Amino acid sequence: MKDFTVNAAIDCDLPPPFRGRHLIAGEWVDSAETFERASPSHGTVVSVSACGDHATTERAIGAARTAFDTGVWSRASGKERATVLLRVAALIEANVERIAVQETLESGKPISQSRGEVGGAADLWRYAASLARTAHGDSHNTLGEDMLGVVLKEPIGVVSIITPWNFPFWILSQKLPFALAAGCTVVVKPSEMTPSSTVMMGELLLEAGLPAGVCNIVLGHGQPVGSLLSTHKDVDMVTFTGSTAVGKLITQASSDTLKKVALELGGKNPQVICPDADLESAADAVTFGVYFNVGQCCNASSRIIVHEDIAADFVARVVALSRKVKFGDPLDPDTQVGAIVTPEHNAKIDAYVQAAVAAGATLELGGGMLPVEGLGAQFYQPTVISNVSPDMAIARAEVFGPVLVVMTYRTLDEAISLTNDSVYGLSAGIWSENVHTCLEFARRVEAGTVWTNTWMDGYPELAFGGVKQSGQGREIGRYGFEEFLEVKSLVMRIGRSRAPWVESDV
Ligand code: NAD
Repeated sequence: MKDFTVNAAIDCDLPPPFRGRHLIAGEWVDSAETFERASPSHGTVVSVSACGDHATTERAIGAARTAFDTGVWSRASGKERATVLLRVAALIEANVERIAVQETLESGKPISQSRGEVGGAADLWRYAASLARTAHGDSHNTLGEDMLGVVLKEPIGVVSIITPWNFPFWILSQKLPFALAAGCTVVVKPSEMTPSSTVMMGELLLEAGLPAGVCNIVLGHGQPVGSLLSTHKDVDMVTFTGSTAVGKLITQASSDTLKKVALELGGKNPQVICPDADLESAADAVTFGVYFNVGQCCNASSRIIVHEDIAADFVARVVALSRKVKFGDPLDPDTQVGAIVTPEHNAKIDAYVQAAVAAGATLELGGGMLPVEGLGAQFYQPTVISNVSPDMAIARAEVFGPVLVVMTYRTLDEAISLTNDSVYGLSAGIWSENVHTCLEFARRVEAGTVWTNTWMDGYPELAFGGVKQSGQGREIGRYGFEEFLEVKSLVMRIGRSRAPWVESDV
């Protein structure tokens, strides 16, 4: 039996490198310094971007502050905001192919998944447009005959948006349209590894008629750009998606100005497989959960907790499916799993695997680099590891690669305890035909999202986020939108009935 299914390089010419510039106050801005990104699968330079410094970031924050304070967007009607957001949604759909190809070249993810990510993002913009028109506070008409109380919702102000490389266009769309729907102005800093789709988004925003300065983009690195976006006094909120380590740095950096911080961080997400589960569907979902986006996904199901009676059978099913998953050239529409983002990250994944094996874990499949004919060596084999104990690093750390860890349980209590035995709490899932088992699990696990008999389904209407060290705050849905709103109480006396505090002589 062949070990893996590998798609060799397809014959095609790569487009010339994309030239990325900052967007500040409605103008495209160059920097003397630039940085390059090479395709992780091809090794060729695919983008050259202006590299932001302290002064560029200051200018962008200043532009966002001015735009907010003038009220050009913050005081625009919901209808006006929604009109622009709907135009952006249509423009995204008209530009899917161009954006998706660039995203694949910079990230290494398969083109079919880039198309899905970019095209799907349009729906986030449409949903946010609906929120722009329906945002409202409360009224209190029971405070007494001479009183009326109104709770107003207002945009929080200038928002820094800092995004990671693994879903650059999707994650931007989990934040930006919601911030804009609320009336905020923003400065976006995409990852230095995948800057171009954010620049392309900037082009669409201008075409859609978003006023100058409402969305500014600064390209560059965590230092100094991300750092200044987290500390600057004119920024009211930072919304960050990325690693837990950088999330902690941002929390510390922002504390001086006490700005609001929303964090979407890492995960070590388990799927529990019960003996009464539909094992065929569960095995397919586990295979999807671990290899989607090469496992470089905050929601990757990187560990499974299987009942010991069915563990051997279930692992055999997952290994058999893993051999059939199509790894290889991400530009091949048939490929399901592409390249690892950097050689350093590939080496880090391998180090976790080798340490687990050295500590006594069993390699059921894979466990090494995966050279792909005609492409570089920046790929990793589909890897399944059993005999893993909960204290091993591979069972606890976010490996962020195509590596599945298998643990076993005997009772539901034990499965829930293993699920919660993590510093993370992003998502968790259970497979059982018994609704009582599913509901008990859902109520007792520490996670922002629980899936029962499915994995990784999401909708713009539903909130997304994590507990424990997976983050704070929520994105998308009405709860995500509310994060960008400030609450103001308005207390109004009606008539002249107030008794004086001091008797006047006059
Ligand atoms: P990262 O933390 O290395 O970088 C994220 C962003 O932060 C980048 O734009 C980077 O330039 C910037 N940055 C780096 N140092 C900074 C600093 N000191 N101050 C401000 N900004 C700084 O993360 P990554 O490697 O790009 O992405 C992978 C991580 O993101 C994983 O841990 C993954 O789980 C997480 N992630 C979480 C979610 C979620 O929704 N929970 C979604 C996707 C990715």
